Amino acid sequence: MIYIQGISYDDKSSYQRGAKLAPPLIRKALYSESSNLFAENGVSLSSLDMADKGDFLIPDYFDIETTTKANLEDKSPIFTLGGDHSITYPVIRAISMYYPQIDILHIDAHADLYDEFEGDKYSHACPFARIMEEGLAKNLVQVGIRTLSNHQREQVKKFGVKTLELRDWELSKLPYFENPLYISLDMDAFDPAYAPGVSHYEPGGFTARQVLQIIQQLKGNIVGADIVEYNPTKDHHDMTAFLAAKMMKEILVRMA
Ligand code: MN
Ligand code: MN
Repeated sequence: MIYIQGISYDDKSSYQRGAKLAPPLIRKALYSESSNLFAENGVSLSSLDMADKGDFLIPDYFDIETTTKANLEDKSPIFTLGGDHSITYPVIRAISMYYPQIDILHIDAHADLYDEFEGDKYSHACPFARIMEEGLAKNLVQVGIRTLSNHQREQVKKFGVKTLELRDWELSKLPYFENPLYISLDMDAFDPAYAPGVSHYEPGGFTARQVLQIIQQLKGNIVGADIVEYNPTKDHHDMTAFLAAKMMKEILVRMA
């Protein structure tokens, strides 16, 4: 079984709101008649054992963890549609009931390692600092990164993060993950040309194909994933929704 949940929450977004509108729009793109449910490896989502728990409008940040715990009935993998990137920390706290030591593949333009951002330790700029502080991840590997500040470079060192900056990127640098794996995909990892529906435009990003290649070569036990930071209020012709849906499809067939 794979559990799916939508976390409609963007109160920790520092610059623009809108990501809380994303979950139903990604689902709509996924099930749109414009495409089919087959991933590129020939497996159809219709053949997977999935339980969609629906979308949850979250009033308070700390409800994300309790909601996820309630949706996670057993050790099955869970796929979350965000929401801004702050949701990843409480989702991983929930998963830690079953998997206390995971590896994380974090795909993003930003390292999201700030100790605090504008006075908030739970800002969408901070989730991976909280995760590393609590020892929830054995290994954190970041790809797509192209915005490191001095403070974040220090945080990378402090927490022993493997941050693969996009300026030096080669697919062969992606390590093998030994522990149960969680994938966190921030849609601004893509170049804004591919994904205009995000709050933070950071040019020089991944192509859709580069991220597909990363996902398609992952092996091992994927116990959780999220797609975050899709902001429908910035999108053009739903193109970012369709990109998110494509990535969701490719990740789900690898979770199965
Ligand atoms: Mn992020
Ligand atoms: Mn980002």
